Amino acid sequence: MSLPPSGLGEFELIRRFFTRDGRARRGPGVILGVGDDAALLEMPKDSDLVVAVDTIVAGRHFLEGAAARSIGHRALAVNLSDIAAMGATPLWATLALTLPGVDADWLEEFAAGFFDLADAHGVTLVGGDTTGGPLTVSVQIMGHVPRGTALRRSGAQAGDVLVVSGTLGDAAAGLNLLKTAGHSASSREAQELIRRFDFAEPRVALGQCARGIARAAMDLSDGLVGDLPKLAQASGLAAHVSVERLPLSSAMRTTVSPDQALEWALAGGEDFELLLAVPPQRLNELQSAADRLNLMLTAIGELRSGAGVTWSLNGKDFVPNLSGYDHFAQASTQITV
Ligand code: ADP
Ligand code: MG
Repeated sequence: MSLPPSGLGEFELIRRFFTRDGRARRGPGVILGVGDDAALLEMPKDSDLVVAVDTIVAGRHFLEGAAARSIGHRALAVNLSDIAAMGATPLWATLALTLPGVDADWLEEFAAGFFDLADAHGVTLVGGDTTGGPLTVSVQIMGHVPRGTALRRSGAQAGDVLVVSGTLGDAAAGLNLLKTAGHSASSREAQELIRRFDFAEPRVALGQCARGIARAAMDLSDGLVGDLPKLAQASGLAAHVSVERLPLSSAMRTTVSPDQALEWALAGGEDFELLLAVPPQRLNELQSAADRLNLMLTAIGELRSGAGVTWSLNGKDFVPNLSGYDHFAQASTQITV
């Protein structure tokens, strides 16, 4: 580790911002957390370990100068969303933090964003790494499912209904507002859309409910146009979407034109909603679970035998802009992922 010089050494920084007292430090299965050379963890009996890692980079996944609290939230949220997509229960996380400098106020806010979300989902931070360099945050998350029950992208069958949670395109709309008006965007609807980008809510509880009901699942991080082909291909099927069914928030509908709303709902990334393939006879069951979670579900199409994804708008063939929508197309660090 080599942090730039500041009043706060690495050890002190970790102690002050990332080491917690009491119960929060000793979550379920934590034999040894932050402070030793490695964490010691105990898996629940008869479970599979579910592991994901995601890195977010300034100017690529969040705006340069974004609020530290939203960066802390995002770093964990993107990972929790992957855990949700597997139907898993999150348990532990590690945090690799690369900082251009040591700014106590920034770290305070970053940690608040991270731990608020961690606490909401029962996640314990069990270790990490702290180093100097361009602002980059990498979180690894670990969770579990009862053995053999994880949801995968493969496993859908022809005739399964394609279901999405929540509303689509809001995060893209929110980011657009941030880029044009910044946080000064004043209407309640604008603030709501910005919130969907800055503080995405990973659908962890829904993912767990969908385990045993859905046949396949993934989270929508790159937009439906980018992500649906991955699920269809993994399941060896074709997919069809009736575009007029895509769920749009009222904030979106009142803020932008119908065409713009549709473009973002199709191709805007970062919504972190779940896309599920559900046998028609089990839709009610999933709907009841979503009702209990106060979460909207929408059937947007179906899986069919064959390959590829087709789209229709009010019964007519429709071709979305397949280049998709890239939030950070202008970023100098642009790489194709
Ligand atoms: P080592 O040199 O053995 O890798 P470090 O000095 O980097 O250990 O870290 C000391 C302890 O602090 C370890 O338990 C490590 O997991 C933890 N740690 C380091 N950075 C972070 C961080 N950003 N968040 C949480 N824990 C961290
Ligand atoms: Mg060591």
